[in-house]
Amino acid sequence: MNAHVSLSSGFVNGDVSFWYRSSGVPSPGPRLDGDLQADVAIVGAGYTGLWTAYYLKQAQPSLNVVVLEKDFAGFGASGRNGGWLTGDLAGSHQRYARTHGVEGARRLQREMYASIDEVIQVCEKEGIDADVVKGGVVNVARTPSQAARLRASVSAARAWGIEEADLRLVDPAERLRVAGAVAASWSPHCARVQPAKLVRGLARAVRELGVTVYERTPVTEIAPGLAVTPFGTVRARHVLRATEGFTSRLKGLRRQWLPMNSSLIVTEPLPASFWETVGWAGSELLGDMAHYYMYAQRTADDRIAFGGRGRPYLYGSRVDARGHTHEQTVEALWRLLIDFFPAAASSSVAHAWSGVLGVPRDWCSTVHVDPATGLGWAGGYTGHGVTTANLAGRTMRDLVLGERTALTELPWVGRRVRAWEPEPLRWLGVHAMYRLYRVADHRERSMADTSVLARMADLITGH
Ligand SMILES: Cc1cc2nc3c(=O)[nH]c(=O)nc-3n(C[C@H](O)[C@H](O)[C@H](O)COP(=O)(O)OP(=O)(O)OC[C@H]3O[C@@H](n4cnc5c(N)ncnc54)[C@H](O)[C@@H]3O)c2cc1C
Repeated sequence: MNAHVSLSSGFVNGDVSFWYRSSGVPSPGPRLDGDLQADVAIVGAGYTGLWTAYYLKQAQPSLNVVVLEKDFAGFGASGRNGGWLTGDLAGSHQRYARTHGVEGARRLQREMYASIDEVIQVCEKEGIDADVVKGGVVNVARTPSQAARLRASVSAARAWGIEEADLRLVDPAERLRVAGAVAASWSPHCARVQPAKLVRGLARAVRELGVTVYERTPVTEIAPGLAVTPFGTVRARHVLRATEGFTSRLKGLRRQWLPMNSSLIVTEPLPASFWETVGWAGSELLGDMAHYYMYAQRTADDRIAFGGRGRPYLYGSRVDARGHTHEQTVEALWRLLIDFFPAAASSSVAHAWSGVLGVPRDWCSTVHVDPATGLGWAGGYTGHGVTTANLAGRTMRDLVLGERTALTELPWVGRRVRAWEPEPLRWLGVHAMYRLYRVADHRERSMADTSVLARMADLITGH
């Protein structure tokens, strides 16, 4: 590993994620053993699959719901993410408004905000201790062009019903003092969570409701009424796909959602003097306005978990296995972390890991259940899945039960989007996008406006 990174003596690379370090990576439970019949078969035990199972059983306790998971519940992004339970939409308001008008996009935004509180309430009700604190989110700009983008995004938000109380500009010296910050915004609509505790707690809650979660059970084929595994076939009226970033591994779905990598590092616990120096007094989440953006949280045990894009995409929509992270990514994240917080330079990196999230061609997420075939899916959250998956779970419940509700009328329901290009175009497009973003971020250090390169990158990939 490069000498520029300060690694702890017990540094761990991968092993799913730091979030499992205190509990240990779970040993998978029993696998499916023979064919069976159910009312609803859910493929994937991350937040999407588990929230869906949870709400279905709450609504109709007699429903026979099974979850089929290839590794263990929480193996995917749900056990690895940055822990932002965020009110930000997965996708742009404009795109949702194209099909459902401005009011449709506003309704979706309101539901996102409400979903944060819904997650918090269920955690309280079910005794899920996921270190949840609703401390809001600070976004910083560190160049004049980032500041211009930040101001523009705050004023544009008003059109979507996001008021001053929901999002406003603040003095960057007021709280969470990031070196070089020239502007900042603040929103109360974000909570810090410990991702693995949330997903494992949810898995426990759904099991207690009578759902069987079969682990070590990969689904090799999904068809109307069928989920096929090497250990038996589940026949069910509804088969729901909740595989997000892993969807490209399923037959016929390689180009549906691009598996995008994201990586995190976490420091050793930092002393009280550090938190006082930087004014990070609460559990605020921290993001920035770079194109190659970062995201961070102060963990419950006083570390900084700091994330960003590593190697963004692997050729042929491959996905990583257990979160091993490239050395250059660890180094780049560490350098950025101490650039943000020079006072953290005396600390070191305790753990690094990565995961995959699903990105549709138009960067807008979808939830869908086809009443004719009984097939359904939700995902494509483009890195905003912690909250959106809860909304997906409640929406899938209504769709499966055939109920028309406020949720089933939201603009992301039944959204169709074209597939990504075949390789090598897909790989070239994504890598060009991130190269252009990196150069644009560099150039913007001395620019007042967004670099034309970043606009080109957005054009190439539809971002
Ligand atoms: C590093 C990282 C940081 C992120 N940070 C944030 C954040 O801070 N805030 C935010 O809102 N979002 C964030 N995201 C995105 C968010 O974590 C995801 O959108 C969300 O967890 C998706 O949940 P899911 O249940 O749909 O998918 P997953 O959690 O990925 O679950 C899918 C499950 O399906 C299983 N599976 C896959 N294929 C099969 C198969 N064939 N058969 C059976 N099982 C299968 C997998 O093993 C996995 O357990 C981040 C993502 C990553 C990777």
